[in-house]
Amino acid sequence: MPRKKIKNLQAPRGTYDILPENQIYWDKIRRVVKELGEDYGFLRIDTPIIEDTDLFIRGTGQTTDIVQKQMYSFKTLGGDSLTLRPEGTPGVIRAYIENGMINLLHPLKFYYFGPMFRYEHPQAGRYRQFYQFGFETIGGQEPVLDVQLIQLFLHILRDLGLKKINVQINSLGCPECRPAFRRALVDYYRSRKNKLCPNCQKRLKINPLRLLDCKEEKCQPVKASAPMSLDYLCSQCHNHFKSVLEFLDELEIPYFLNHQLVRGLDYYTKTVFEVWPESNQGPAENQDTKEPISLGGGGRYDNLVKRLGGKPTPAAGFAAGIERIISLIKQQGMKIPSKSNPKVFLVQLGELGQRKSMKLFEELHKAEIKVAESISKPSIKSQLKIADKIGVRFSLIVGQQEALDRSVIIRDMQSGVQETVPRDKVVKELKKRLSKK
Ligand code: AMP
Repeated sequence: MPRKKIKNLQAPRGTYDILPENQIYWDKIRRVVKELGEDYGFLRIDTPIIEDTDLFIRGTGQTTDIVQKQMYSFKTLGGDSLTLRPEGTPGVIRAYIENGMINLLHPLKFYYFGPMFRYEHPQAGRYRQFYQFGFETIGGQEPVLDVQLIQLFLHILRDLGLKKINVQINSLGCPECRPAFRRALVDYYRSRKNKLCPNCQKRLKINPLRLLDCKEEKCQPVKASAPMSLDYLCSQCHNHFKSVLEFLDELEIPYFLNHQLVRGLDYYTKTVFEVWPESNQGPAENQDTKEPISLGGGGRYDNLVKRLGGKPTPAAGFAAGIERIISLIKQQGMKIPSKSNPKVFLVQLGELGQRKSMKLFEELHKAEIKVAESISKPSIKSQLKIADKIGVRFSLIVGQQEALDRSVIIRDMQSGVQETVPRDKVVKELKKRLSKK
């Protein structure tokens, strides 16, 4: 019988492996996010990767691209509809409400770090499983809180060594003033309907704000003269935005007023912002789509807590895309130092030597001496070869004889000189030698 060809297994489309050689970037970002986040008073929160589908329909919004086209939803055996989270904010707000955090001292400040899932057309910088870190400030309506989020975002990017970053900012108003803007937008676009791409014709009906997001060549002339949300802000939203810009000026954070920035989600009110890398010709663009690359974005969402069943509670936040940050770090040629290499290699020989050296390994670890080993290799030659390759200063050799004598051989890898020392003195001796240049 002919043998059936076995299909090569691959990671699902739009997903990828984070290989060991790339972990230094991830470690660095995790560290900076945690350290700076905590310095700014944010506490880590982890919510489930799966949530009730309804959370995103009600939170992210029924008419958004995410809910319409991008969710990985499935029915469980018990008949519930669950969704792999496409974004972090709704889960954080659900956790806030569910855990009765309304009774705590506000504003509450949280951060998260983890995978998100969107059924997208995979391309450079766009994945189906991607990672975000995000920050949320719940229970404060002051403009200074919006600005603190922007300040923190830029601080993180700066600490990661990134340069040439700019802030795009806009205000979308609130339920008081947005309807007038929406009406003006619809009126304007309706009278130019035949000049729009098919997608915009749909947006005009279901989500007119997204008309301003369209990247189609055909729609650009119409978009260029479209009404601007800033012209329709009520006095409260106007003052809020003015104050945000004044804070940014005070902090010397350069920003661009971007009248076409609407963000894709339904819940935003007042301030919205994104952070974009710059190229020499202006905003850096995705090679395939020619769209500006966004490292992350966010804004104020004063009605989301209520929408998800909590008491009316103003809030603001942002999320950043980790793959895009790493790609920029690499593009800008930033070197992230890897952890220091071990200075000592542990060589063992024979079963008894192997056993004793495992114990010694633990002891060295406790003494904070970084050791490498190749405990499964049987020959001394092959082990010393690895030690040489790693470039350690000393090898410790524990053979049958040393195990019986309770001793260890210290070999200076440069000179090849070997010396036998008593087992209980080896850590002290090693420390002494390592401290010498
Ligand atoms: P959003 O809230 O959708 O603007 O997402 C915030 C950030 O997450 C974006 O600016 C990107 O950096 C990143 N991001 C969003 N979707 C993807 C994706 N499919 N693949 C990679 N990164 C993404």
